[in-house]
Amino acid sequence: MGKESSLFQTYARYPISLVKGEGSWLWDDQGNKYLDFMSGLAVTNLGHAPAKVKEKLKGQLDELWHVSNLFHIPGQEKAAELLTANTCADAVFFCNSGAEANEAAIKLARRYHQKVKGTQRFEIITFAQSFHGRTLATLTATGQDKVKDGFLPLPAGFKTVPLHDLPALEAAITKDTAAIMLEMVLAEGGVHPVEPEFLKAVSELCKQHGLLLIADEVQTGMGRTGKLFAHEHYGIEPDIFTVAKGLGSGFPVGAMLGKGFLREAFTAGSHASTFGGTPLASAVVTATIETMLEDQVPQRAAEAGEYLMGKLNEKLGSHPFVKAIRGKGLLIGMECAEPVGELVLKGQSRGLLFVTAGPNVIRLLPNLYVTREEMDQAVELLATLIQEHTAVNQA
Ligand SMILES: *Cc1c(COP(=O)(O)O)cnc(C)c1O
Repeated sequence: MGKESSLFQTYARYPISLVKGEGSWLWDDQGNKYLDFMSGLAVTNLGHAPAKVKEKLKGQLDELWHVSNLFHIPGQEKAAELLTANTCADAVFFCNSGAEANEAAIKLARRYHQKVKGTQRFEIITFAQSFHGRTLATLTATGQDKVKDGFLPLPAGFKTVPLHDLPALEAAITKDTAAIMLEMVLAEGGVHPVEPEFLKAVSELCKQHGLLLIADEVQTGMGRTGKLFAHEHYGIEPDIFTVAKGLGSGFPVGAMLGKGFLREAFTAGSHASTFGGTPLASAVVTATIETMLEDQVPQRAAEAGEYLMGKLNEKLGSHPFVKAIRGKGLLIGMECAEPVGELVLKGQSRGLLFVTAGPNVIRLLPNLYVTREEMDQAVELLATLIQEHTAVNQA
């Protein structure tokens, strides 16, 4: 054993040190090459070091890195305009992470009811198995006990109901309810796309009761599911939605987007973030979105996702170890009969990186430019890994 790390050991890290990335590929400090089907966890949607974003970032490095949000930041206005021009939202608040974007959404929902509507509504209803972040409010919103362990007392004002259980949701709504918040695909929670009829019903309930609908698009956004944002699949418009992971192609940036009627709830001084939408971050966001639009990246993700899903079904769909293959676009989960942690490690030793979503689900998140050859390669290797794994376990 070497000396103890100077880091808090909040991650059970894999014994690999990645030092270089390009497109779908990563290299470690030993010179080994990996096909990346996790994308830093749905972050590097344009692949590693995408040329146009890199160029914009380098250009901005020579101009200006940071100024306070007390000043106008033209680049931030531009990034926001791109986001509102291409979504159902009218206004953007920039921050630095998914959790911070969700915090902003929760605060905006409360403030809208309390300051604009003049009610005392505060409660946010979320769903079992959801994931909304690690700050105190967002871990309370999260529908998984493991993220709450040891952090009591939790903030008041959150209630969780089972997904797809409309009677439970209706019963949970009271005079205190401010908003319903959900992911379009429960990502960390096992890759479960929300049923269209259920989401329609949620949207109707929100209208009926005067609640805000908040979509957490931190993982599903930025082209990942085959649309720029996953709620576009469903024909509903959330009042608020949040973005982070893919928004900066690897540069840390998040955003909370909302409808125009919410502007009056977030007035000067009501919310802030020192690093939100700096010139550097804004340049990266603008370059990322422009690239997505120019190259029709969401469309690519839809087509690639269909291909990958088809290949997985063809090679593994009838394997007894595989219980279900589901997802949207390039957010795909393969539910297996047993825990898959060992398969993740075996994949790494054979040059394929992927993650889990809960103990039994393999989660595949390639970049959105992934080629058919790369997908074929990944599926072949997964099939081999599963074949070997089941053969050993039967012996
Ligand atoms: C990752 C994630 C978050 C948290 O994002 P951070 O940037 O890690 O704070 C929130 N919601 C969803 C759906 C996520 O996938």
